[in-house]
Order: sequence, then structure tokens, then C-alpha cells
Amino acid sequence: MINVTLITGDGIGPQIAEATRRCVDATNPGINWELAQAGVDIMEKAGTPLPKETIDSVRKNGVALKAPITTPVGTGFRSINVFLRQQLELYACLRPCKSYKGVRSRYSDIDLVVVRENTEDLYAGIEFEKGKDDTTELINWLNKHNERKIRDDSGISIKPISVAGTQKIVRFAFEYARKQKRKKVTSVHKANIMKFSDGLWLDVSREVAKEYPDIEFEDRIVDNMCMQLIQKPELYDVLVLPNLYGDILSDLCAGLVGGLGVAPGANIGDKGAIFEATHGSAPKYAGQNKVNPCALILSGVLLLQYLDKQEEAKMLEQAVADVIAEGKYVTYDMKPDRNDPTAVGTSEMADAIIEKIKG
Ligand code: NAD
Repeated sequence: MINVTLITGDGIGPQIAEATRRCVDATNPGINWELAQAGVDIMEKAGTPLPKETIDSVRKNGVALKAPITTPVGTGFRSINVFLRQQLELYACLRPCKSYKGVRSRYSDIDLVVVRENTEDLYAGIEFEKGKDDTTELINWLNKHNERKIRDDSGISIKPISVAGTQKIVRFAFEYARKQKRKKVTSVHKANIMKFSDGLWLDVSREVAKEYPDIEFEDRIVDNMCMQLIQKPELYDVLVLPNLYGDILSDLCAGLVGGLGVAPGANIGDKGAIFEATHGSAPKYAGQNKVNPCALILSGVLLLQYLDKQEEAKMLEQAVADVIAEGKYVTYDMKPDRNDPTAVGTSEMADAIIEKIKG
């Protein structure tokens, strides 16, 4: 048996976590779920939104499926998600975006994977606030060493991109492509403008690509990439991007395939991985057995792939695709009319998926 931590989250989290656990188990993957809590519900009991037992369980097992968590306001916790990501050094964010028949969308044949670098770039958190002494000192130094001057009343965010960080993420993208039998990796950048950060990213991407002659490689400038994704998304396969562009293009690609209801995700590092839906905890639907469990169930597909349970992953994904395509046992958000009285609840949709798996 493989131990996997199941973080049940809050808001809609516990109900979609239960639905997902049942669907994954129906494929008989040999997973032993270790239940753990995080979020606002446990905060009242434990005094922290992320109890030590939960962190210990994730560290011990190295693999977790995590339901959404409300970001607690005013607790000193910037975000539990960011904390877990840093603790486990989860440097890769994986977001497959695939068209499923029956999901309303402008496009019908998309099968893209966005691989986003998770630790560097403008999201590294190195910020200088307007008017602070450090900021003034930095501006003075920069103005002394550059012809171009920065205005005194500027705020500054630093954009570090390293050789080591870029090698890791680009290799990750190629390894993923190879394992999942994908054909092409596209590295996205703005190297024509930011020569020393994005330029480095592009140079390193090209070097790493040479290690993978079996997979096609190309690069695109990020603005052109956005236009191409809208005009001819079928030309692309695996995209690898620095943190900020990755954040923006993940949402663009999720939009291409019909939005949050079917957008799974994973954060992966060398020491472990956390699988989670892209959407949040939708607190207004907490406890109502109403919302769509598919994004977390499809994150379960990614979990199975990660555990090298490829057959089980295919079985689960096919079952989800079949239930969505039939459009009968689906939640309200997947019906053409959101008030359709024939919409089923979260657990009933999971039942329909399990029925398909059992054949
Ligand atoms: P949200 O994703 O929770 O909700 C946005 C909209 O989508 C809402 O209308 C919601 O009802 C709907 N929605 C979300 N998931 C759905 C589902 N499975 N089925 C049907 N409809 C669904 O975003 P929000 O309202 O901005 O955030 C709520 C809380 O979740 C915040 O505290 C935020 O910080 C947190 N959050 C957590 C994560 C995470 O844990 N990974 C991710 C995003 C947001």
C-alpha cells in the first residue's frame, strides 16, 4: 500500500475530498489514505490553520491530495498553500488543460499542459516598498550604476531567474513529456526585452532541450504565445514558463477548456508532490453537496500518474469524461441551465463516475 495524505480542507473541501477519495479508490490503486486537516474549520480547535500533524504527515508521505482551503485573514499566515509549497520545495506547478466533450467552451479539441516554475521570478517575494529607507538606498545604488534613472517615488519588485532553477523546471517539463508520451515542449519568455532574466531562461531551455532529442522543442515570446493559444491552440502540447507568465497562461488555458470546474493541478518537487484543484473553497456552498467534484477528481488522475499507476489514471479519467459527455449525472454548473432541477449533487456525480469505472 502507498501512504497518501488526504487534506480535507474547508468550505466545499470535505465533500469534494470524500467524492475524490471514493472515485480514486474505485480504480483499486492500493492507496492508504492518511486523513489530515487544514483550514478555517480546524483553526478553531487547533489554534492554527495548519496543525503540526498535517505538516508531519505530508513530510512523511511526500504525497498529498489537498482539497481547497480558505485563506485565513489576519492570522499571520500568508497562505497555507504557499507554506506547504515552500516546505516541500515544490518547484513545478503542473496544470493540464483538456477539452472534455460536454463541457461548454469555445474550443473542442484542446490538450495542453502548462508547466509553471513555482519559486523564482517576480513571485520570489523580494519587494521594496515606496519611500522606505532600504528602497531609497537601492534606488540610489541603481541610479549610480545605470544610465536609466528610477524615480524616487517607485516601489520595486525583483525578478531573479537562475540557471539552476531554470534547468530544474525545463528538465521537469521534458521528463513529463517523455513519460506521458507527448511530442513537443515550448519554452515561453520575453527574452527580447529582459535579456538577463528571460534571456538566461531561453539559453538554459535550449541547452536542456539538447538532452531530449526525442522531443521537439521550440520557443515563443509570451505575447505572441497568448495570441497563438487563442488562434491555434491545437499546435501546442507542453508549455514551460517562468512563474508570472505561468500564472497568467494557466488561467488563459483553463478558460480555453471551460474554466474552473475541470481544472486540475499539481505542485511537484524532488521531495514530494501535492495535488489540488485550481478552484478555491467556495464557502457559500459549504456542506450543501452541490458543487462539481471533477477538478479534484482529475487532480486524482494526476496523482495516479505520479504514482506510476498509469492504467488506473486512464480508467478514472475516462470515467469522468464519459459522465460529463452524457451530461445526465452532473452538477448544476455543467447543465446548460444552472437552475436545471435534474442536476445531481457532488456525491451522486461521484457515484456515476464509480459506476463507469466498475463497468
Ligand atoms: P473559488 O474558486 O472558491 O470560487 C470562485 C467561483 O467559482 C465561485 O462562484 C464558486 O462558487 C465557484 N466554484 C468554485 N469551485 C466550484 C466547484 N467545484 N463547482 C462549482 N462551482 C465552483 O474562489 P474565491 O471565491 O475567490 O475563493 C474562496 C476562498 O478559497 C478564498 O479564501 C481563497 O483564498 C481560497 N482559495 C484557495 C485555493 C486553494 O486552496 N488551492 C485556491 C484558490 C482560492
